[in-house]
Amino acid sequence: MTQSRCDRCGASGPAHDFVSAGTDGTWRVLCSRCFNTEMAQFADMQGFEHPSFTPLRLRDVDNSDHEFHFRSLLLGDQLSLEAFELAGDDEAAGYRFQILGKADSKPFALLGQLIQTMKRALSMKHLQAEAGRLQIADMTVRGRVEWNGDEGASQPCVIIDGRRIEWNDLGAMLLAFEGWQFRLEMLDPSDEA
Ligand SMILES: [Zn+2]
Repeated sequence: MTQSRCDRCGASGPAHDFVSAGTDGTWRVLCSRCFNTEMAQFADMQGFEHPSFTPLRLRDVDNSDHEFHFRSLLLGDQLSLEAFELAGDDEAAGYRFQILGKADSKPFALLGQLIQTMKRALSMKHLQAEAGRLQIADMTVRGRVEWNGDEGASQPCVIIDGRRIEWNDLGAMLLAFEGWQFRLEMLDPSDEA
């Protein structure tokens, strides 16, 4: 797992727990604890306690376990809590969830809400294998748009059911609906799809 080192406190750890923060034109790598400490000072928040949560496993509707890591970042007047899977180092390849609360929210209350959202998402599958090929299981598909990893790529990939689907493969699935209408709606990462 790629390691990073905090320019402020010197702590090292997995890269997903670090952020690049720019101040006055210089960029520093900060651990989330230092990032939040500085943000709390900047926002003049007294007594902000950095929440850190240990990884959690949740089981999906097909009885597969998913291990979620958490990251909490104070973003001005909001506290963001993210849960994501890691495929190797890649946090863009699996399920990802985010909840935003007020900066002074109780972190465990936010975590509880986030886990409810995660459980609802893991209780359904939008794709199913038919004759060895993935097909859209019903009439609705929920997912996330991601960069496909190619420099200069002109098309994204999507993450559906916590798995990466190439754009062309999504297109092939849509062939089953030739002549049907569709509605494409974009939602903020912290909204429940
Ligand atoms: Zn630090």
